[in-house]
Amino acid sequence: MSETDGNAASGRVSGVRRGSCACGAVRFEVAGPLRPIIACHCGQCRKMSGHFTAATEVPEARLRLLHEEGLRWYASSAKARRAFCGTCGSTLFFKLNERDHVAVFAGALDDVEGLSLAGQIHAADAAGYYRVPDDLPQLERAAIDALPPQG
Ligand SMILES: [Zn+2]
Ligand SMILES: [Zn+2]
Repeated sequence: MSETDGNAASGRVSGVRRGSCACGAVRFEVAGPLRPIIACHCGQCRKMSGHFTAATEVPEARLRLLHEEGLRWYASSAKARRAFCGTCGSTLFFKLNERDHVAVFAGALDDVEGLSLAGQIHAADAAGYYRVPDDLPQLERAAIDALPPQG
């Protein structure tokens, strides 16, 4: 499906999607096609989210904050930061310092039309209480970056 078809099907203007935390203290827009959604089983995602995470990714320039009163950034390691809402605790963004893209956790998006879960990473780090899906490809960074954008 082309970008144009996807936008027409959902009624979105210029491919802009809105997102927010649970309480509304953070609201944002992402514009244009997005990377397919990737699930992450790493230990930090588990701690931050309560289970495993799923996120898309967008060039930083296409993420626009509309309301950032609640936005908090946390340096989760020497090379990455995570953003959450300081009021409700919703997990929102992940940013590798050296990369000009921002991962947007899928649950924060209000409009997911045209997006799908396309793979998973850090399966070896998954907690022992669940099995990673065996019908979802385990991808490395290079393969993830090569996925055609969706929506
Ligand atoms: Zn909030
Ligand atoms: Zn992770």
